Amino acid sequence: MNKINYYLAAVLFMFATVMVQAQEQEQTERQAGHTNQSKFRQMYQEFSTPNAYRSASGAPGPAYYQQQANYKMDIELDDKDSKIYGEETITYINNSPDDLEFLWVQLDQNVREKGNKSALRNSSALQGAVPVGQFAGAHMKGAEFDGGFKIQHVKGSNGKDLPYTINQTMMRVDLPTALKSQDQISFSIKWWYNIPDHTVSRARSGYESFPKDGNKAYVIAQFFPRMAVYSDVEGWQNHQFWGSGEFALPFGDYEVNITVPADHVLDGTGELQNRKEVFSKDMMKRYEKAVKSFDKPVVIVTQKEAEAAEKGFSKDKKTWKFIAKNVRDYGFATSRKFIWDMQNVKLPSGKTAMAVSLYPKEGNPLWEEYSTKAVAHTLRSYSSHTFDYPYPKAISVHAKQQGMEYPMICWNYGRPNEDGSYADRTKYGMISVIIHEVGHNFFPMIVNSDERQWGWMDEGLDTFMQYMAEQEFGEEFPEAIAPNAKYPSQRGEPAKIVPYMAGDQNFMTPIMSNPENVFQLGSNAYGKPATALNILRETVMGKELFDHAFKTYSHRWMFKHPTPEDFFRTMEDASAVDLDYFWRGWFYTTDYVDMGVKEVKKYQVSNNPPKQIRDVMEQRNLKLSDLPPLVFLADMDGDDYDANLKGKNPSDVSKTLKEYMMDNLTAAERAAVKEPKFFYEVTFNKPGGIPMPLIVEYSYADGSKENVTYPAEVWRMSDKEIKKVISSQKELVGIVVDPKAETADIDTSNNSWPAKEVKSGFDKFKGNVKQ
Ligand SMILES: [Zn+2]
Repeated sequence: MNKINYYLAAVLFMFATVMVQAQEQEQTERQAGHTNQSKFRQMYQEFSTPNAYRSASGAPGPAYYQQQANYKMDIELDDKDSKIYGEETITYINNSPDDLEFLWVQLDQNVREKGNKSALRNSSALQGAVPVGQFAGAHMKGAEFDGGFKIQHVKGSNGKDLPYTINQTMMRVDLPTALKSQDQISFSIKWWYNIPDHTVSRARSGYESFPKDGNKAYVIAQFFPRMAVYSDVEGWQNHQFWGSGEFALPFGDYEVNITVPADHVLDGTGELQNRKEVFSKDMMKRYEKAVKSFDKPVVIVTQKEAEAAEKGFSKDKKTWKFIAKNVRDYGFATSRKFIWDMQNVKLPSGKTAMAVSLYPKEGNPLWEEYSTKAVAHTLRSYSSHTFDYPYPKAISVHAKQQGMEYPMICWNYGRPNEDGSYADRTKYGMISVIIHEVGHNFFPMIVNSDERQWGWMDEGLDTFMQYMAEQEFGEEFPEAIAPNAKYPSQRGEPAKIVPYMAGDQNFMTPIMSNPENVFQLGSNAYGKPATALNILRETVMGKELFDHAFKTYSHRWMFKHPTPEDFFRTMEDASAVDLDYFWRGWFYTTDYVDMGVKEVKKYQVSNNPPKQIRDVMEQRNLKLSDLPPLVFLADMDGDDYDANLKGKNPSDVSKTLKEYMMDNLTAAERAAVKEPKFFYEVTFNKPGGIPMPLIVEYSYADGSKENVTYPAEVWRMSDKEIKKVISSQKELVGIVVDPKAETADIDTSNNSWPAKEVKSGFDKFKGNVKQ
């Protein structure tokens, strides 16, 4: 062949094969406009610039610092009138490089003071039917509850009053001279407040009344003025407490004395210092037994003893003394109704921690059966995925309608019917909430993110961990769940988030939103990030890479204050997986996943040029002999289809291929070649905005199946459509995209070839407006 012909042929060849790429290129450029809109561009615009406090790797930087707040508190409960009194001395250590002219202290109880603006900033509407409790709460108000802190004084260590200004839930304490960097200050606050009935006010803390026996059970938290966080990221985190965005708190050491009626049973954050003073001899003996019991709980206060105590109403007082090291908060529970059990738990490293439960008889028989078991399981499961639980104990307290977490202690719902019967739903709800709230010890009590700003950083990570712990609970205690069943997790499975992600975009915000500004906090901050992390682990990164990176994040930020970027960066830093597209799609947008198979073209090898090529040859006046050696492929749905060639070896059809093989392969190599007889060009499309791995199951005429996962980067050159060529010895008869529902694909009606009649998930949920 002469050089000119070879050139022409090369042009022709290019014409046929490069068309696809050209189209893709054009499409990408059209989408891109003048700025880079690729979904695979790096997150430089969204992420802040790394600095000496926080490294680009996602680890704390060389100049990382955090403040410390130590508390000494004397607390007294007035059970009769449901009031709580306290005096606290805060020692605040300024580790920051800045001098501070004032300090911000959080007064969370003020969300319940008369005139608080929290309710005023919400819009409200009337509907034809309103749940009765909601109606009564909104319209049948008696005297307004007199909640909120009554601050009696704020004094410096010299006993002189310090000036302060209260702005709703924040109190600014003005200092006579600025608190210098690396210096510390002690000051004290005296206060009291009326404790709310949490079953009425839906507060995170308060009491429940039991009219039958005249007792109350208290779960007490956010009960003392608490230091706000000062950090390199926010300066003072003094964003008001409006009710949804939870808490941001510095670490410190606590010394807390709590005085309650002498017949109360009490437990709280920290190690009990005067056990012999507050325990009876029997309780001491049982406690010593519990410390040695690793397989089941030992009852410290029996139901019989608790029922007897309910009738007492002692006028005497008892003081319970605790010390807690390196915690970010304090909570306690107290009542004469409490039954108490505990067991010891061996953690992965061999260290131990006590699993503890407090519950009134109204929680039984469910609570004596499952609470401490669930606490112990959670400590083991979470420790194995992060770090060994570093505190001496974890307490689960039964409280109606509650699910709330504090260091070493949490409140959990799950109440049987009055006759002691209970639905499976109640049992699973109770086990799940205990796993979740005990799990919060890890995120955010120890890996101490800013809940006020980023609800998902603790709720999402914890809900993800909860899903793994629930599944493991089902394996550890098969007798607790239905035979041959998996634990019925409510969140974490990809399919469970589809209704939310397919919902009305007008009522959706990205995960990276402040919790006060999102429509459905449960789906936004719990379900969606948990599902995203589950998909990341199972489908995108794989367990080995994910688990190592997640552990790295947990260790790097244990007892520190991480930001979202510290998490995103560490997950990449420790795995070498570029996840910018994933963070952008799942966390920074309200896009959803929808991928499908659009078209399948079948080709056969032929000895003659198909029409498309013949046309170009004619235009350019080329003969077959002018072309370089080519293998021709004919569209089996077009005019060039030749039924006689079906199922033949390509080398028996194409002379050029035969010659090529004779010239280039040895006889042995030729004998080893498995010639494909079927050729397909498959077009996959992606109506959804989030790029995800394309998981495909190919089915063949002989009944065999092949699964291929194309990495998410398959979409990097073309966000809407890509093509894949399949050559096979077997006839392809079916294609299913995401066959095991691993990606939260919201519309599966386009996931099969040949197309199947499937009810579209999108239609099902479209128009389903939620708030
Ligand atoms: Zn939570």
